Amino acid sequence: MHSCKQTSARLMVDLAAIRKNHTRLAERVGGAECAAVVKADAYGLGVREIASCLSEKVQTFFVAQPEEGCQLRRLLPEKRIFVLHGFSPGRPETMVDHSLVPVLNSLEQVRQWRAFCQQVGTEHPAALQFDTGMSRFGISEDDLRDEVVRGLKPVLVMSHLACADQPDDPANKEQCQRFLAMSAAFPGVPRSLAASSGIFLGSDYHFEMVRPGIALYGLPPHEGDRSLFPAIGLEAQILQIRTLKVGERIGYGLTYRAEQPMRVATVGIGYADGIFRSFARNGALWKGDIRLPVLGRISMDSLSVDVTHLPDDATREGEWLTLIGPQQDITKVADHVGTIGYEVLTSLGYRFDRFYNG
Ligand SMILES: *Cc1c(COP(=O)(O)O)cnc(C)c1O
Repeated sequence: MHSCKQTSARLMVDLAAIRKNHTRLAERVGGAECAAVVKADAYGLGVREIASCLSEKVQTFFVAQPEEGCQLRRLLPEKRIFVLHGFSPGRPETMVDHSLVPVLNSLEQVRQWRAFCQQVGTEHPAALQFDTGMSRFGISEDDLRDEVVRGLKPVLVMSHLACADQPDDPANKEQCQRFLAMSAAFPGVPRSLAASSGIFLGSDYHFEMVRPGIALYGLPPHEGDRSLFPAIGLEAQILQIRTLKVGERIGYGLTYRAEQPMRVATVGIGYADGIFRSFARNGALWKGDIRLPVLGRISMDSLSVDVTHLPDDATREGEWLTLIGPQQDITKVADHVGTIGYEVLTSLGYRFDRFYNG
């Protein structure tokens, strides 16, 4: 039997680059611990591979959901794993069963956790989140006065910045000051405020631990920053070459019409793979430094590009074209479709062959 694994798109993940990015970030934060955020299947890149590639350097990992924590625990029996959403309502025991540390985000969660610990007779470790201005997760300044909070002995206090990708936004300083003030209620407990972009706001934001996610994968924390190594490539294969006469049209809705004779390649990647339909507006694929504009609408499993100017020896079925690479990074792709790199990454489909080097 021959292998059925013959997909027409492939994702290349450079694990060596990811490790180098962790080293860069760890150097930048000096004595603070540099954890790793691997929620959402490590931003769509494959949590198994990413977590094991980082496991020599990283002692502390963060995921969003209890389920992700259980999965990561099987991969990393020895590491500390925080669950950002805390335990599922009514299910604190999952945390203990899998040695996960919940991040407690509300007064109600703190109350349930403490009742659970009292019931089992052990003070299991938990982290406590403060809302310092984002109004998303975390207890408020008022909640700090509640007895149930005052009696908690968290292993970490944390908060999250809303505007860290905009270094000049005054909200950063305001949140940092509020975090300092709220943390004072738990003297000596390690503090964590910064995710990827926050790390680049300077040492005032580093405290005892930082929690980068996207920066590990090489996406720039601020516009124009070039200090990280790109770690992701995406290629798709030409499935057909066609020659169009003037007036012939392409794809659903026949929205593109050839104004001169042209060569068109049908490429095996589409919106089911996370290539948004809006990418058609001014997106392109690349072969080396030759830009191949997308023509017409993007289908579920394919899209069409203009290969009129591609040399004949590269214009054939089976040839690989670049969608994410040095010519066009994830941020560029995100700009084309009007979103952010995070959404492009986490939207990448599960049909790709994934190649991990390093
Ligand atoms: C997702 C997340 C992170 C990591 O964010 P990046 O911007 O990817 O570095 C850190 N902390 C919290 C609370 C998060 O939700």
